[in-house]
Amino acid sequence: MFATLSDRLADTFKNLRGKGRLSEADIDATAREIRIALLEADVALPVVKEFVGAVKDRARSEEVSGALNPAQQIIKIVNEELVAILGGETRRLRYAKSGPTVIMLAGLQGAGKTTLAAKLALWLKDQGKTPMLAACDLQRPNAVKQLQVNGERVGVPVFAPEPGNGVGDPVSVARASIAEARRTLHDVVIVDTAGRLGIDAELMQQASDIRDAVQPDEVLFVVDAMIGQDAVVTAQAFLQGVGYDGVVLTKLDGDARGGAALSIASITGKPVMFASNGEKLTDFDLFHPDRMASRILD
Ligand code: GDP
Repeated sequence: MFATLSDRLADTFKNLRGKGRLSEADIDATAREIRIALLEADVALPVVKEFVGAVKDRARSEEVSGALNPAQQIIKIVNEELVAILGGETRRLRYAKSGPTVIMLAGLQGAGKTTLAAKLALWLKDQGKTPMLAACDLQRPNAVKQLQVNGERVGVPVFAPEPGNGVGDPVSVARASIAEARRTLHDVVIVDTAGRLGIDAELMQQASDIRDAVQPDEVLFVVDAMIGQDAVVTAQAFLQGVGYDGVVLTKLDGDARGGAALSIASITGKPVMFASNGEKLTDFDLFHPDRMASRILD
């Protein structure tokens, strides 16, 4: 990911090397190149405009510090603006002050939610937590089983509806899972919810009903970075339909051009909190805007 964007920007900055001062024309030409590079990377147009505008303004107005040449100065500005559109500081999970912390996952089918639930559980275990998974995706025939298999792989119990135990619908399963966590002293419950292939009203309603029933400490929207501009559309639909506190980007190991990663935080105003970058259950970590920006400018 980001290989093309990274190469493009490197070429742009190469043209500035050796210049003693940047003329207005140099700044304009550089801004144009950055604009093209971002658009080619599938970054949403309003985000590109805002980004390029900010870089241009700063390139014109900021004093070049003694230690940096003009090319380095522009790279510094681009780096800082990239960190800003990626959400700034790394946003960490908020845990409940008392009782189990409830983390609800929402997103489209295929986004990587079920995989992510197990990855997050493993990550939480490494943080010293005692997580539990709640299988509330009762739509997809295999989802409960898949979560159980993944739960077993990471050594985390999965609360799932059993025939005849009276908790058949997703809202009841979610509610019962919290009670079970209290009873068995698990300090985090990760609630996996159903996804559909496309955005639909019923899906949003179900997710909202679960949210209202369990009052999560964090709702995380899980989105596949490979779907490009559609990721932004989906992110906005879920923000309106369900609401969430943070975003998890999945499949960052793929050859996506990076637009989703760059656009989502900026357009939704919600931070990207975690990144999932592979099929292995350990391919997962906190999302660090500064490290991502450095990767792009590497
Ligand atoms: P769900 O429908 O949202 O629950 O999605 P799944 O968790 O079943 O994931 C859909 C597919 O994407 C599966 O084949 C996963 O192995 C794969 N997947 C999930 N996360 C990642 C990731 O970060 N990178 C890659 N390459 N594949 C992933």
